[in-house]
Amino acid sequence: MQNLLPPLKIVLIHPRGFCAGVKRAVDIVNKALEIHGNPIYVRHEIVHNKTVVEEFKNKGVIFVNDVDEIPAGSTAIFSAHGVSCKVETEAKERTLNYIDATCPLVKKVHKIGLDYYNEGYQIILVGHKGHPEVEGTFGRIPNNIFIVSSTTEAEKIIIDESKPLAYITQTTLSLDDTKDIIAVLKSRFPNIAGPDKNICYATQNRQNAIKSIINDLDSLIVIGSKNSSNSNRLKEIGDKHGKLAFLIDNKNEIPFDKIQEVQTLGISAGASAPDSAINDIINAIKTNRQVIAIEDYEYTKEDVIFHLPKELR
Ligand code: SF4
Repeated sequence: MQNLLPPLKIVLIHPRGFCAGVKRAVDIVNKALEIHGNPIYVRHEIVHNKTVVEEFKNKGVIFVNDVDEIPAGSTAIFSAHGVSCKVETEAKERTLNYIDATCPLVKKVHKIGLDYYNEGYQIILVGHKGHPEVEGTFGRIPNNIFIVSSTTEAEKIIIDESKPLAYITQTTLSLDDTKDIIAVLKSRFPNIAGPDKNICYATQNRQNAIKSIINDLDSLIVIGSKNSSNSNRLKEIGDKHGKLAFLIDNKNEIPFDKIQEVQTLGISAGASAPDSAINDIINAIKTNRQVIAIEDYEYTKEDVIFHLPKELR
């Protein structure tokens, strides 16, 4: 059966997989387990990846949606997406021994937003409503902050035009993802301030890498979870270029029936997908198809490292 299918070339697209912020968050949970032992509570999925979360559950980590589900005095970790001031206050009130795994780049967005706020700006946060990072950033600014998720919302938003206006963006959106919304905002509010480059290197690098090779591929598999914002954006690049594109979590989700005729398959992975899932998927494809070559395609190198918080070093 395998021989009836055309031979397959796999292109491994770099950079892919864990970014520095996700690696730090995962290392924080492992180190906290080593130092404090169970029970360790994590507020929200530490990163948006099923494999990572399942592996931690198997180690006894307890995931909760809210601080009030954590017994007073326990060790708790905030996810890489960041939290609002309210969550931090609640954690203190419950006397939690909490460790903050918020990515330093998300914290940078919090700081930029607060600086604008302190200078009297109203702030538009461009991002997906309901995403934990957006909720966290929103809850870091006392008031005068509005979330805009689409060009339609950008066209309709009403602000006080006598006050200055600035925008900040969700880190897991690239400049391409936000450019239409920002263009609408700039046309309506020409003096709007905002960063002219991406705060997060990882999202942009993964997207640029795929864009620069996509025309040479028949199909694209992105490894990541369905609730991972940046993984969805990667798959959409394949869709937009008319390629067969898939977002899968693990080897059980490989769409073999749909890629039977594919001869050149690109593989990338969202910033929260672990190497174990990536390697499993590559090995499963190798056993199912006659793979004639596995090539590495490197768009750029990444050397960003974020250190663990002081209390865990
Ligand atoms: S994608 Fe960027 S902002 Fe998000 S955790 Fe990774 S490095 Fe941090």
